[in-house]
Amino acid sequence: MKKIKMTTPLVEMDGDEMTRVIWGMIKDELLKPFIELKTEYYDLGIEYRNETNDEVTVQAAEAIKRYGVGVKCATITPNADRIKEYNLKEMWKSPNGTIRSILDGTVFRAPITVSSIKPFVRTWKEPITIARHAYGDIYKNVEMKIEGKGKAELVFTDENGEEKRKLIHKFNDSGVVMGMHNTNKSIESFARSCFNFALDTKQDLWFASKDTISKKYDHTFKNIFYEIFENEYKERFKEANIEYFYTLIDDAVARVIKSKGGFIWACKNYDGDVMSDMVATAFGSLAMMTSVLVSPEGYYEYEAAHGTVQRHYYKHLKGEETSTNSIATIFAWSGALRKRGELDSNLELVSFADKLENAAIKTIEEGVMTKDLALLTDLKEVKTVNTYDFIKEIRKTLETM
Ligand code: NAP
Ligand code: MG
Repeated sequence: MKKIKMTTPLVEMDGDEMTRVIWGMIKDELLKPFIELKTEYYDLGIEYRNETNDEVTVQAAEAIKRYGVGVKCATITPNADRIKEYNLKEMWKSPNGTIRSILDGTVFRAPITVSSIKPFVRTWKEPITIARHAYGDIYKNVEMKIEGKGKAELVFTDENGEEKRKLIHKFNDSGVVMGMHNTNKSIESFARSCFNFALDTKQDLWFASKDTISKKYDHTFKNIFYEIFENEYKERFKEANIEYFYTLIDDAVARVIKSKGGFIWACKNYDGDVMSDMVATAFGSLAMMTSVLVSPEGYYEYEAAHGTVQRHYYKHLKGEETSTNSIATIFAWSGALRKRGELDSNLELVSFADKLENAAIKTIEEGVMTKDLALLTDLKEVKTVNTYDFIKEIRKTLETM
């Protein structure tokens, strides 16, 4: 069989623990036998990040800007325990945070659905993709405890020293206050990433906020989305036969639950934090959730939404059998290969990405799966397999396609 050729390399970012083990298996079993895999490799494993003072993470992000598409393995975000475990020079920042701040993107998370695992919400037939604005609001807030009488004010001092002042509250007793901010630039990037991704995936886009109560803050989000849509996307949405839909956040929650799914739900930072966990759980498992970072300039970075599955890795190191689900990592690869293929007009590569995904889904639907899924499926006859055998079973299915 002739292997599929690639013209432009993918930016490959290796990672940590169990997902690093899976990464190698996926390349050996599911990619290299079928593709002349061309990647520019960056080792984002914790040891090499430490060795390079985390420079390698920045280099990887810069490479995504050069080539346009990257695929990333899950990585350790260091904490106090990890500093000891790996004897780190510093508590290096989250690689995802570093990459996101360089590419200035929005993260889209979409569940991978299989017929034998039903979402908890009966009406959901298609996946719901959550787009979370990842800047500002409560995550960059300033807060204060108030003890006793006094007034809290919002003050803005411009460059010339002119002040604008507004009373927040006159306290007669103790209480709390908080200050939050966002920038038009960040909201504009968020809006463009969402509109682009909707066009890319041909799905409707929903956005919601509480503009009736927050007449300046939330209303700014609503207005920016509206203006960018009207000026830049309206025609293209019409051509693609998709819709942009705005409503209030509480109305959106009610509509999402009653919906059939199959759309993108753009959320403000806090709404996205809360709703992505709800949607992920309602669809089944974190191991079946993909994640893609889309920058307003059109750079893409694909990964699994889950972490490095540390508990399984320690079992693996002890020589014990593991049953780690590789689906989300496989879909990170297929997503990146498909995007690479689309950008290079490499139809063979696009078609391979489709086949790989279909083979993975078909394997599960025929009853072969890892333990996490075996606990959720409504199939009667299930063959529960270990980490490596699952990937080998997908290869068998892939070879029949
Ligand atoms: P995790 O790796 O997502 O795993 C948490 C638990 O979820 C696992 O112990 C396992 O449950 C289940 N699970 C997750 N993925 C699975 C899979 N593919 N197959 C089967 N079960 C799966 O989260 P964590 O253990 O809290 O974090 C480990 C490390 O990952 C941390 O160092 C964290 O910094 C990092 N992390 C990285 C990213 C990223 O790079 N995007 C994201 C999140 C976390 P059972 O143990 O019950 O089987
Ligand atoms: Mg959360």
